[in-house]
Amino acid sequence: MNLAAHTGYTDTPSTNRAEARVALVTGGANGIGAAISARLAAEGISVAVADIDLGTAARLAREIEGRGGKAVAVQMDVADPGSITRAFDSVERTYDRCDILVSNAGIAGVASFVDCSLEVWERVQKINVTGPMLCGQHAARLMVRRGWGRIVNIGSVSGVRAGFGRTAYGTSKAALIGLTRQMAIELADAGITANCVAPGPIDTPLTRAHHSAETRESYRRTVPMRRYGTPAEVAAITAFLCSEQASYVTGQVMAADGGFLAAGILEV
Ligand code: NAD
Repeated sequence: MNLAAHTGYTDTPSTNRAEARVALVTGGANGIGAAISARLAAEGISVAVADIDLGTAARLAREIEGRGGKAVAVQMDVADPGSITRAFDSVERTYDRCDILVSNAGIAGVASFVDCSLEVWERVQKINVTGPMLCGQHAARLMVRRGWGRIVNIGSVSGVRAGFGRTAYGTSKAALIGLTRQMAIELADAGITANCVAPGPIDTPLTRAHHSAETRESYRRTVPMRRYGTPAEVAAITAFLCSEQASYVTGQVMAADGGFLAAGILEV
């Protein structure tokens, strides 16, 4: 039996090292985005760390380069279509390609349903939904040229389950799941996959700023693993979805949530 022909098994697993891939990570300078930038770079991928905070993005890019990886910092405000265009133009000028897009930049905007202002609602949709849509269009145009691409949108368990105070945020992340499926079916023919990673509570600057003591206690009771996840744990599943190995996975929502979405009652 020809093992390789029947199983795809080879002594040297094909990884992203096989080709000089280029990735753009939005909100790539801090928190989950920084872990994703570092993880993709560690796999031999050239990473454009795209962030509104250029200083921190530049520091991270230097740190990645210091460890032998390849990274550049790119200024990008995902709330500004012109800024998105300029960032992709710069990636195209530098690399002439973009194989991987991780749309990670996102904001929270916590407010109860009746108190959620139009201003907060619109800003959250602009950054969490419109930004990934426009970034996806720019990236897909570059990916189509080479017939290969990976798009990963960083959603949230709040896009699957309602949570108190998550009117703007949860609705935006639910829309991001819809957008991911739309991208997946329209880009499948071009060799491009689109998937959504839905983190549960992760210890980052965002949750340190927005999670109250009550929210932390609530997650301690409702997450079966009884802890917050780490940015590295989200980066690991994201890297898989960006890899050659995930070639038949598209339109999916993958939770990295310590079992939160699987859970019902946890005490008897
Ligand atoms: P964070 O606030 O710690 O980092 C966000 C990064 O995005 C920062 O580098 C920031 O400068 C950048 N950013 C913010 N607005 C931007 C804009 N307009 N344009 C470009 N960059 C911008 O956030 P995080 O906790 O690492 O979250 C990252 C993503 O993961 C978000 O989409 C968030 O909704 C999602 N998420 C986080 C958690 C969590 O518990 N931390 C859970 C579920 C989903």
